[in-house]
Amino acid sequence: MEDTDLIIVGAGPTGMFATFCAGLREIDSITLESLDTHGGQMLELYPEKMVYDVQAVPKMKATDLSDKMYEQSMLFNKKIEFNSKVTDIIPEDGKFTVEVNSEKKYSAKAILICGGVGDFHPNELGVDGEKQYKDKGVYYNVKSTDAFRNKTVAIIGGGDSAFDYQMQLSPICKKTYIIQHNNTFKAAESSVDAVKRDSKAEIIMNTDVKKIDGDGNTVKSIEISNNTDKTSKTLEVDAVVVAIGYKVNPSIFKSLPVETSNRYIKVDHNYKTSVDGVYAAGDMANVSDEPKFALISVGGAEAYIAINNIKKYLSPNASLFGGHSSSLNI
Ligand SMILES: Cc1cc2nc3c(=O)[nH]c(=O)nc-3n(C[C@H](O)[C@H](O)[C@H](O)COP(=O)(O)OP(=O)(O)OC[C@H]3O[C@@H](n4cnc5c(N)ncnc54)[C@H](O)[C@@H]3O)c2cc1C
Repeated sequence: MEDTDLIIVGAGPTGMFATFCAGLREIDSITLESLDTHGGQMLELYPEKMVYDVQAVPKMKATDLSDKMYEQSMLFNKKIEFNSKVTDIIPEDGKFTVEVNSEKKYSAKAILICGGVGDFHPNELGVDGEKQYKDKGVYYNVKSTDAFRNKTVAIIGGGDSAFDYQMQLSPICKKTYIIQHNNTFKAAESSVDAVKRDSKAEIIMNTDVKKIDGDGNTVKSIEISNNTDKTSKTLEVDAVVVAIGYKVNPSIFKSLPVETSNRYIKVDHNYKTSVDGVYAAGDMANVSDEPKFALISVGGAEAYIAINNIKKYLSPNASLFGGHSSSLNI
């Protein structure tokens, strides 16, 4: 097992900024990310959307913002290991054994959990053809709009993601369908109104997808069934975007007895959990039972506070505040 002072779980925006801050405070750290890339929700859920509310960044595509954050996280040559899912954290003699992909890999003096909404996997429709055409016409997000150019696309779902995808794709698609299983939408009213005004969009309510068909290489049609009058029909489509939510598997580890509330890890104002040496920040952590401001900039500020407290935990003689970065000459 390799020794380190700090393990940071997750390389979403919070974990990446924490990685940078660990470098700033000269903490020996390793960041572990279960996915094969950085960015967390930014890259998995809205890579092509613009973000406007991060300080000093008036407007930037989420994917570019993630790249910038990664660049910043690497300023002190810190290690981020991808495809490294933390499967358990076991407290042992004042230290923590960190299990990665079910193997005991690291021994750390402190832990910072930046697991966001957890290890997320998109919900599937569970219909014939879905698995067969995955990535060959069946998608669970829109990573690049180019794959949809001049196509007829069925977007399944009625939440913000479904409507965001429709608005993103409509300008380059031939036609879009929004197919919702009941008669209500969870998406913002303004998005629903915009889609209703879009001449290339057709909204189909109270309808389930029953089957996805294709020619073996790509999707050609879907079979849909109306839940009210039980009629079925076939829609000719070139692609299906399934936007019916994510299965969230919160990264709260079975051997780590941190106190939780709802889906959050409870933290104090220093972002320390109920276990000494274990801290949490970002979307996964909450100081109170009030609704959380789940935002990139908030996670960054929390990571900053957590890392400075971790520095003091690891080196009690160190100052809590490490000084202004503008005083550094890197
Ligand atoms: C559609 C949408 C639009 C948004 N728009 C904005 C916006 O405009 N502005 C804004 O500020 N915020 C926005 N947000 C919110 C913002 O994306 C989140 O607040 C932010 O991503 C939280 O960062 P995080 O690092 O805490 O968590 P996440 O982004 O969820 O990252 C957590 C990372 O930890 C990894 N992980 C989890 N468990 C493990 C494990 N066991 N082992 C290893 N790795 C693990 C995950 O794979 C993930 O990469 C938006 C969110 C959504 C869904």
